[in-house]
Amino acid sequence: MEFFDIMNKACTNEGLFFDEEKYNKFIKYKDMIKEWNEKINLTAITEDEGIVKKHFIDSIKVFRFSPLKTAKRIIDVGTGAGFPGIPIKIMIPNVEVVLLDSLNKRVNFLNEVIRELELKGITAVHGRAEDYARESRFREKFDIVVSRAVANMAVLSELCIPFVEVNGQFIALKGPAVEEEIKEGSKAITTLGGKLQQIINVEVEGTDLKHNLVVVNKIKETPKIYPRKAGTASKKPIK
Ligand code: SAM
Repeated sequence: MEFFDIMNKACTNEGLFFDEEKYNKFIKYKDMIKEWNEKINLTAITEDEGIVKKHFIDSIKVFRFSPLKTAKRIIDVGTGAGFPGIPIKIMIPNVEVVLLDSLNKRVNFLNEVIRELELKGITAVHGRAEDYARESRFREKFDIVVSRAVANMAVLSELCIPFVEVNGQFIALKGPAVEEEIKEGSKAITTLGGKLQQIINVEVEGTDLKHNLVVVNKIKETPKIYPRKAGTASKKPIK
């Protein structure tokens, strides 16, 4: 199957509209990943098919949590080469997106992608989540926070939940062994003002990937002492 058909099918499965314009943006993005990956480390997946399925379609699976389709302002914490933030933006162009990463080279790449794909209402920022979450323009200012492959739930909750506004959601894209992680992270989730809402199992068509979306509701404000200073969450996770 051609990439257009593969992506079209994946989008249809999530109730999303796909067309030539979106397809062209994804193809340009894929080519930029391959080109830049020769100069800076963006991803270990370098084949077209892997990029399409394991990055693009895996990112699109986040829409299985359907309220995402009407999100207003999203931050992607530890976005790396833009996953899942860029695919989300391509799929729902009206949403405002912030891509955050602590590696400047990756942020430079993202700025180039934003320019080349002519994406509007999206910014890439360089820094640590722990520092940005203390700034008033970011703290509790997002209705949805997403993150894939950044840290375990105990640590990730401290990096992400402070950005979520009360009644908003934090969605962590996780691998298959999620139960144990959630058990380990449950104290952190509640301490930061969250409540586990649901775990959504997803399979990525045409791969053996079995992933989970962990959805956390923000039910009260995050105490002012969180996040602690950069690095503390991973050294001394809330447990
Ligand atoms: N989310 C992308 C994906 O799924 O392909 C990238 C995953 S990569 C394994 C983890 C990324 O998180 C890296 O690009 C790293 O620089 C970033 N990161 C790790 N800790 C961070 C922090 N405290 N604040 C911001 N970014 C962070």
